[in-house]
Amino acid sequence: NHSGRSKAALMASRQSHFSPTLSLSYNEPLKIVRGLGAYLFDEQGRDYLDMVNNVCHVGHCHPKVVAAAQQQMATLNTNTRYLHDNLVSYGERLLGYFPDKLAVCFLVNSGSEANELAFRLARCASKSRELLVVDGAYHGNTNACVDASPYKFDGPGGEGAAAHIHKVMLPDPYRGPYAGYGPKTGSQYAADIKRVLADLSWQDKKPGAYICESVQGVAGQIVMPQGYLTSVYEQVRAAGGVCIADEVQIGFGRVGEAMWGFETQGVVPDIVTLGKPIGNGHPMAAVITTRKVADAFVTGMEYFNTFGGNPVSCAIGQAVLEVIEEQQLQAHARRTGDYLQSKLKEMAHEFELIGDVRGLGLFIGVELVTDSHRKTPATAQTKLLIEHFKTQRILLSSEGPFNNILKIKPPMVFGQPEADRFLDTLRSGLRGLGQ
Ligand code: PMP
Repeated sequence: NHSGRSKAALMASRQSHFSPTLSLSYNEPLKIVRGLGAYLFDEQGRDYLDMVNNVCHVGHCHPKVVAAAQQQMATLNTNTRYLHDNLVSYGERLLGYFPDKLAVCFLVNSGSEANELAFRLARCASKSRELLVVDGAYHGNTNACVDASPYKFDGPGGEGAAAHIHKVMLPDPYRGPYAGYGPKTGSQYAADIKRVLADLSWQDKKPGAYICESVQGVAGQIVMPQGYLTSVYEQVRAAGGVCIADEVQIGFGRVGEAMWGFETQGVVPDIVTLGKPIGNGHPMAAVITTRKVADAFVTGMEYFNTFGGNPVSCAIGQAVLEVIEEQQLQAHARRTGDYLQSKLKEMAHEFELIGDVRGLGLFIGVELVTDSHRKTPATAQTKLLIEHFKTQRILLSSEGPFNNILKIKPPMVFGQPEADRFLDTLRSGLRGLGQ
């Protein structure tokens, strides 16, 4: 029995008191009042399978995470200016998941703030603010992050690339100029860096940093060809820049075969940014870097962050890591993701609308096209399918520059029964579209 306001009343109040830049999902928005595991519940008590939320990583309202938060909130919350076990225990534990070289962490409050700090660190380490970004990418909502996000500055309301921003080609083996995952594709895409570096050098400049998601999210759920990051990192470093891996969407075991996406490319970044899943929905984030970069940031200016690294956030972060281990969620993501991808690839033979299926672990994209040769984006059909999933009580979002990619990134407790339900619903949806 829900006693809150009606959907109409909530929408009216949002209109009066909030910015129209806040968007809502679906033609008829949902009111969600509760979450549990991989499920959300609306005000009528109806359950929805959540295949969107990669933030509530270990499941909505996981009891262990909730208990850790409640207990620490009832005991103490301060900042990093006092000694506290939680900061140190959490920092040690988190760094334990990284190669030895990545030995220093900063705790912050959002993915945007993490990238913002990463840019400052990179600038101190390289003495240059020139930033290389991948076309189509999104890195956050602050000034510096919007500047670093072609998805924003080239999109609606954007003002184009700022003078210090240099776009490099998106390594997209489905839509880009170099197709497939052959042994040369990675280096072919990485060669585009030479163009930017030559241009910079001609202007007597050098790169400050190169930032890249280890699996592309907003740019279109793209698994980059092997060798791409190795070659890019070599070139950027040789020219004096540092390499930032944005793991905000995909970190913490989602990619299945590894804890971090960069590991699947066989590289070690100079700076890694973490966010979304790190606190299972509690606003926290982190920047992980080398001692060398961290030392370059010691300029005499204090770095203070009111909320970053507080005892409550650290207790929550610690509980999330424990749950990932105890429930073996990384291995689970790999198993479930492999199963889902293999079934989707079978379906792609049956339905022409499925142009491409790709992903790692529980981070998958299904690209829909009306013509498999021309790869014409099936944008309208994608929207219809998402509404169809909603009628079947499955929540799904779309992605990519043409909004024609079904984006799969559920809480990591999503299992095979859920995958089967999704596949059946996709099949009925595709049939409904006359496929
Ligand atoms: N980086 C990536 C890759 C993201 O997807 C996002 C958020 N969608 C961010 C950074 C920014 O994170 P936040 O919204 O927590 O500031």
